[in-house]
Amino acid sequence: MKTASSSDLYRKLPAVDDLLQSKGLAALVAQEGRATVTDSARTVLTRLREEIASRRLDADGIDLAISGLPDAIEREARQRLRYSLRPVINATGVILHTNLARAPLAENALEHIGETAGVYSNLEFDLESGERGKRDVHVDRFFSKLLDVDVGTAAPGYPAERSSPAIATIVVNNNAAAVLLALNTLAEGGDVIVSRGELVEIGGSFRIPEIMAKSGAILREVGTTNRTRIADYERAITERTKLLLRVHRSNFQITGFTERPELRELAALARTRNIPFMEDLGSGALVDLRSMGIDGEPTVLDSLHAGVDVVTYSGDKLLGGPQAGMLSGRSDLIAHMRSNPLFRALRVGKLTYAALESTLLWYVKGHYDSIPVMRMIRASEEEISKRAEYLANKIKSPSLSIELLDGESVIGGGAAPSAVLTTRLMALTATGLSADELAARLRAADYPLIARIEGGRVLLDLRTVLPEQDEALAEVLNSLGIKAG
Ligand SMILES: *Cc1c(COP(=O)(O)O)cnc(C)c1O
Repeated sequence: MKTASSSDLYRKLPAVDDLLQSKGLAALVAQEGRATVTDSARTVLTRLREEIASRRLDADGIDLAISGLPDAIEREARQRLRYSLRPVINATGVILHTNLARAPLAENALEHIGETAGVYSNLEFDLESGERGKRDVHVDRFFSKLLDVDVGTAAPGYPAERSSPAIATIVVNNNAAAVLLALNTLAEGGDVIVSRGELVEIGGSFRIPEIMAKSGAILREVGTTNRTRIADYERAITERTKLLLRVHRSNFQITGFTERPELRELAALARTRNIPFMEDLGSGALVDLRSMGIDGEPTVLDSLHAGVDVVTYSGDKLLGGPQAGMLSGRSDLIAHMRSNPLFRALRVGKLTYAALESTLLWYVKGHYDSIPVMRMIRASEEEISKRAEYLANKIKSPSLSIELLDGESVIGGGAAPSAVLTTRLMALTATGLSADELAARLRAADYPLIARIEGGRVLLDLRTVLPEQDEALAEVLNSLGIKAG
């Protein structure tokens, strides 16, 4: 081994400017931009200097490192320019995982975005008249089909002048925005009556009292955490009352000594006192999930049938579409919302309309399994078990052991907190790695694999892995390169 003083070694390092002009990097500069390649070259050179300083590089080592500089700089540059928003494999078994972007979109939604977003579209243009149109028409026609309810006959005692109003739907950025818009439109400066048991917080810091304050409406709490009666609402109504609000307990349950009025009772009270009745339904199922073994998630239609005047719900929860917030209800009230300047501030763009229209199309056709969230909810344990067995057989890494276990998936995302979907889990253990270390390795893969840790083991639930990701999942496991011991 040759000996060289470290100052000799430092002197061997090329200057950044010379490097950038070298043949190997000129092309990279043209492709990826000078700024990134310059930064990358500085980073790689700094790393080399650190290695010299810590005496990890001798004279031979430095020659080798210098010949490898263009490659190292290219790798660094590509790393820096990689998208920050990346696809991941969700093996947590939480279907609507808010941190993992909730609902994966249906195939036709991606196609529809692809065909409309890169060119001009009739987003706000009426092709027939050649005049300006409304962007809501693209989805309202499907919503009115799906929510076709004659409110006049649905809710007994509905006043004649309000009978049979058509149900209209408008779309804003998310359900939080829908609630804000509804409260501001219907109750600014007035009182809104809510049960104390419904002053909820939904993941990502959506809190009813806070959104109420921002809307300019005044919260009037009634009842207690566990029990609220119709008489509590009745007593609280004054001339300042502008709205009765019901909030769906979408992410928790109150059990035991509990009571709250039926939607119908509240709707009847609202009607006799001539006050609108709104429900924040949150997850907003468009089809009945009871046949899929999920209780406690009433549909938007259930609410409208019960006489709720305005229902708000998310686009990317049980509906399985893009992030959006819907307001469906009496067309006169929805028309007020549309003319509120806040609506303009909260509206959504063409990507959302394209995705929502495509998702709704499957509901209209009754092809629920074309919507990934619906397909995941409906997947049988047997089907998941078969995939797990097939994948387990494909894993050849000797230091990784896989055991199949019975387990449970959850809907998540603030929906159906009590629903239990039985599933088959792949439990992973790796020689020499703790569960936390193994999970970190899976996350660090090129195609990050997100697992759940339970009882000291890494668990993969294929219910939330899209079938087209199965091969990628196997590849992640096979390329872990865990050394035994
Ligand atoms: C999820 C949820 C919200 C918030 O909806 P986002 O679409 O996430 O803004 C509000 N209220 C209820 C009851 C919910 O379940």
